[in-house]
Amino acid sequence: MYYRKLNNASMWKKIQKLRDLIKLEHNFKERKCWNASCKKDLNIYDFLSDNVDFTPEYVLKLWQAPILEFHCCECFKNLKIDELQKIEQEIPTRICLNCNSLIDIYKFGKFHNYLKIHELRKLWLDSHFKVFCDNLCQRKYYKTYYDFLKKRKIKKQEKLKINL
Ligand SMILES: [Zn+2]
Ligand SMILES: [Zn+2]
Repeated sequence: MYYRKLNNASMWKKIQKLRDLIKLEHNFKERKCWNASCKKDLNIYDFLSDNVDFTPEYVLKLWQAPILEFHCCECFKNLKIDELQKIEQEIPTRICLNCNSLIDIYKFGKFHNYLKIHELRKLWLDSHFKVFCDNLCQRKYYKTYYDFLKKRKIKKQEKLKINL
């Protein structure tokens, strides 16, 4: 997997930039997985390639930050599952606005996997937030909704014409 990521030219540039930045850093941190029962050595280049939107400068800044905890990929996944279970206890399921099928927080989390866990929780618990199974249901719902608005607009315009 790492090999595939290295094939990307812009990632390669970022890695070289990060390497240069680390050379200038006097107190470069050795990091281990924060989970006490794991303690696996962590690699800053893995961290960079897992967060492709971050600049090398930002990656190094986070890495060096004393208040941040880092987990290896495996422990991070488990951590997320623990957090999802907590959210599940608050509201176990919601209903897709388009097809009325039940959705659990794991499915919701997969659909919105770009969200951080606290953002995910906020949306899940927000009764006004529209919940869908997937992109398809979301698209179908909005298509029906916009068609409805369009029809209503046309009707209104027709009424206006009649009144004129
Ligand atoms: Zn770990
Ligand atoms: Zn649905």
